[in-house]
Amino acid sequence: MPATLLSPHDYAMLASDIKRWARELGFADAGITGTALGEDELHLKRWLDAGHHGEMEYMARHGDKRSRPAELEPGTVRVITVRMDYVPPGTRNAWHVLEDPEAGYVARYALGRDYHKLMRNRLQKLAERIHAAIGDFGYRAFVDSAPVLEKALARNAGLGWIGKHTVLINRRAGSYFFLGELYTDLPLPVDEPASAHCGSCRRCIDICPTQAIVAPYKLDARRCISYLTIELRGSIPEELREPIGNRIFGCDDCQLICPWNKFAQEATEPDFAPRHRLDGAKLVELFGWTEQEFLQRTEGMAIRRTGYEGWLRNIAVALGNAPHTQEVREALLARAEHPSALVREHVAWALARHPA
Ligand code: SF4
Repeated sequence: MPATLLSPHDYAMLASDIKRWARELGFADAGITGTALGEDELHLKRWLDAGHHGEMEYMARHGDKRSRPAELEPGTVRVITVRMDYVPPGTRNAWHVLEDPEAGYVARYALGRDYHKLMRNRLQKLAERIHAAIGDFGYRAFVDSAPVLEKALARNAGLGWIGKHTVLINRRAGSYFFLGELYTDLPLPVDEPASAHCGSCRRCIDICPTQAIVAPYKLDARRCISYLTIELRGSIPEELREPIGNRIFGCDDCQLICPWNKFAQEATEPDFAPRHRLDGAKLVELFGWTEQEFLQRTEGMAIRRTGYEGWLRNIAVALGNAPHTQEVREALLARAEHPSALVREHVAWALARHPA
């Protein structure tokens, strides 16, 4: 039946079918919300005004499109949000890697295949199933690819609440999951927003190695290790290098300490399995990768985002924080004349911490 002829009862049936189809396609959950994001728009504006987004200019671009779905995709009246768990079974214990200063820590979401394409393909399949059931309808799929306030939309759709560390938490699944959205013109019934359950806890604020959570629900990205090791293109501020420890791509501390992650669910998607033993490989070994090896081994992975220069910059910092051994010093010396000034500067900093 064409979408224009559907009754409220048909839409209610369709909403429940959509959630079932989403689960059949590998999503852990799906929820539906409207497009009103007034409070969150204000929160975003204050965050931008404070300059907490650092060099992430794309956060400020697009005006109000980020908080007004119908301005981004005309005709949108509902957003179907989905989540997918990402920590694969058998991944090396995160705390053990963080406590091993000779190993490099990679954020758990980035150990396997890049999620963007995979999630978008699944959202596309979800749209095709809706189309097969009701005919033509308006939609557009997003996975971190456009100005979308995804956490606020997911909260409104009942998938979780935004914790004091600004990550979405689900009562039954913790916070290790990706989000995706299908903007649509179908007037589906909406779900209840999720309630918040941080209470008086502040463990994420206290554990943050660089004190990037400057107040509950307020993250200064310029201090956040995820930003410093992935988004920042230039030099890492010296005072933040030591607290970075052995984290070479992203950071999970605020999630690892969160009590709700005792409910975290394992990924069912085999593509998220760690590649190249990146769930705890030795820093010296990773620092030895040539540019060609880096490009080849990180093909189709989120880790590519930092680029080879950024990769060497980050590992140089971690090696500067590693225990002093001849092997570490030699690995750094081998890169001391690297053509990139950025790499040379970070290697020089690290070498100064490993005198001969
Ligand atoms: S660690 Fe505590 S305060 Fe932080 S997000 Fe988790 S429950 Fe909330």
